[in-house]
Amino acid sequence: MEPARGTISLRGVRKTYRRRGREDFHALDGVDLEIPGGSIFGVIGRSGAGKSTLLRTINLLAEPDAGEVLIDGLRVDGSTGSALAAHRRKTGMIFQHFSLMASKSVWQNAALPLRLAGVAEAEIDRRVAELVTLVGLEDHAHAFPASLSGGQKQRVAIARALVHDPEILLSDEATSALDPETTRSILALIRRINRERGVTVVLITHEMSVVEEIADAVAIVDGGRVVEEGPTWRLFSEPRHAITADFVRAARRDRLADIAAAVDDMEWIGAHRYVARLDGTSATGIAAVADVAPDFRVLKSDIRAVQGRPQGYLAFETGAALTDAEQAALRVEALPR
Ligand code: ADP
Repeated sequence: MEPARGTISLRGVRKTYRRRGREDFHALDGVDLEIPGGSIFGVIGRSGAGKSTLLRTINLLAEPDAGEVLIDGLRVDGSTGSALAAHRRKTGMIFQHFSLMASKSVWQNAALPLRLAGVAEAEIDRRVAELVTLVGLEDHAHAFPASLSGGQKQRVAIARALVHDPEILLSDEATSALDPETTRSILALIRRINRERGVTVVLITHEMSVVEEIADAVAIVDGGRVVEEGPTWRLFSEPRHAITADFVRAARRDRLADIAAAVDDMEWIGAHRYVARLDGTSATGIAAVADVAPDFRVLKSDIRAVQGRPQGYLAFETGAALTDAEQAALRVEALPR
């Protein structure tokens, strides 16, 4: 069977940097990954883990020195000349710091790759108009980057990354320089592009919350290797590797702090407050909360379907304290009075 459009396979990929006077350094040390066409795939890892290098082997900005890179089942590593150019057009890329040209308008920035490729003016106009609208910048088409917010700049970069109608969008920490609200709006745009245009998205980040928000599946990278991978819901509910567990713990701490702050000024009616973590299993969830605390009152919920499974947090109040066993079964944490 033919792989779906935008399927990426890395097989035994290694990338070695030679360093003068020191040992060779394997930034990637035998990476195997299957990224299904049309999915949103997250790559998480600490700084220096090899995430950027991994992303760059997909569009061959970094040529692997061993292993194979396949797109739609066809090998692309080792491509040169027009084959390499064609491959690069299939893969758009966005970056943390946007990489826009300050002297060019929104429109001109988005049009630039088409100009360089010698596309006819009428066709450039048609494609840029469509994309500037897609990213919501139709009223800013003639503005220059200096007058735009960070989120708007990233929208320009997204439009530019899509001008060749790529199969794949690579995102290198694209939301790391943005505030949480802007991050959410950019992630929503990326998800819409994935759904509406069938573009495979590979995003690298050091923030688990980004992955939790939109990725279907995640690989955790450390020391140039994939140490764990799986569906996003599974990694969050049952992290197996110590590094995954660290990322999940940190993400949970951040979310709990947000929720505690959100309910802080709400009037206490019940005597006890908890936050339940819904992990997509039937042992957690609103029905399970209702079983042990029938009088529960929802204070705040932050629940979304991750691959059809309800995941998230439910802050609630109840008259009677939950036992330790009930708290453990529901994955509940008490909020201080
Ligand atoms: P991450 O994106 O996870 O922070 P990178 O892929 O950027 O990690 O880098 C992985 C390792 O490879 C780092 O130790 C980095 O210093 C090294 N590295 C990356 N690019 C180069 C290069 N061009 N030359 C030498 N070393 C590099």
